[in-house]
Amino acid sequence: MSSAEEIIALTAAQAAGAVERGELDRRELFEAYRERAAADELNAYLWVADGPPEGDGAHPPGPLQGVPLAVKDLFCTEGVPSQAGSRILEGYRPPYTATVVRRLAEAGAPLLGKTNQDEFAMGSSNENSAYGPALNPWDRTRVPGGSSGGSAAAVAAGSAPWALGTDTGGSIRQPAALCGIVGLKPTYGAVSRYGMIAFASSLDQAGPLTRDVTDSALIFRHMVGHDDRDATSVAFPEEVRLPTAQRLDGIRLGVPDDLTGEGVEPGVMECFEATLAVARDLGATVARVALPHADYGLSAYYVLAPAEASSNLARYDGVRYGLRREAGDLLTMYTKTRHDGFGAEVKRRVLIGTYALSSGYYDAYYGRAQRVRTKIAEDFRAAFERVDFVVTPTSPGVAFGLGAKTDDPLAMYLNDYFTVPMPLAGIPAISIPCGLSEGLPVGFQLTSPAFSENRLLDAAYALEQAIGFDNRIGRQQAGPSSRTAGPDATRR
Ligand code: GLN
Repeated sequence: MSSAEEIIALTAAQAAGAVERGELDRRELFEAYRERAAADELNAYLWVADGPPEGDGAHPPGPLQGVPLAVKDLFCTEGVPSQAGSRILEGYRPPYTATVVRRLAEAGAPLLGKTNQDEFAMGSSNENSAYGPALNPWDRTRVPGGSSGGSAAAVAAGSAPWALGTDTGGSIRQPAALCGIVGLKPTYGAVSRYGMIAFASSLDQAGPLTRDVTDSALIFRHMVGHDDRDATSVAFPEEVRLPTAQRLDGIRLGVPDDLTGEGVEPGVMECFEATLAVARDLGATVARVALPHADYGLSAYYVLAPAEASSNLARYDGVRYGLRREAGDLLTMYTKTRHDGFGAEVKRRVLIGTYALSSGYYDAYYGRAQRVRTKIAEDFRAAFERVDFVVTPTSPGVAFGLGAKTDDPLAMYLNDYFTVPMPLAGIPAISIPCGLSEGLPVGFQLTSPAFSENRLLDAAYALEQAIGFDNRIGRQQAGPSSRTAGPDATRR
């Protein structure tokens, strides 16, 4: 195999297979992606490797066979800029590597680059990045989603075979949906958070963004497991299998009662309904399920996440990491550093979070939001007695225009309506592309009980095979051959 185009056309699993059979050279594979990442015009990358880390022989070949990996900026990578999309960490090069990135490197997936993201993972459009927004490869006038927007754009554009993101309230699934790829948010605790720059510690989980469900299972298999350095991580109860299901016979899908389509774009609702029909053809039954407290998910999330963030971000004071604005006295140095280092959305969250945690208000806001969280987890538990998966659209709309929601934080937060309940309940969820609306990808979300990723991946796989979504458009748009074509050139 020789041409870069042919290499890029392979999924990660196919590339690994080709390397294993001796048909593809690992260096050639790395270089094909490295060149494409270095030429990226979507602002998807904040840093691209010069070559495989520490020479090719640094890591044993491993089961991932040298398939390179793009990693969201907030994963600490030794000696490599890790800025979480923030000015306050500009130039920060950690002395250690996040456990999940290290594990994947040891399994044979070397670091290709660091991807753009909303500052400290706060956002749904990548427009909160201090380094400018990443662009959606399907249409460069639109956002790729967020906060893992760079990872989603890179995978969709074919400048990375696969990528890591993090999901606190939807940041893997929503950008995957907006870019026409697969995003998996694992069960809380399945993957070590050690070395992930924290946003909201009780919600943050690392997960893969991939071209298809098989790639998702393949990489996830090497991400899971207990880590002595993260007390919330646990051993995954079973081996992660590659999905094989062709049918959904006997599978019960639950559609939340209050999903009436209100607030959901008609084209998104159409794709969702069409996917339910596909599921029925595969043998699944579809029922309504009650999630009476899911509607309060957004309100609870936007108290809890800022509360935890305000505490996690207290460490950026100009003393220990990154930016420091010199001043005559300590307090002025702190305030100047934080004033200049943090963007508007981060400041908004720190203010809301600090307020919610302040004495006298703690119980009215934080305590109440925690109780709502428990209720949401109970709702899911009850639902899973009746159905195997709860399904929803991933995002109420397709990728929106750059700047369309930046002046209205509440409109931006509404994007997360379908994705925040799952992290609040600690359960896994996956988004797969299920069709196009206005020529742009739509995501279908499935969620299931904690640690049931094998079943989740199997069901997603069966649907994926039946849907047959064509994800080549994103890659063609970003490819060197179509650089001159306008963003609308290949839209259907
Ligand atoms: N969009 C949500 C927020 O802004 C979720 C972010 C995330 O999952 N990291 O908080």
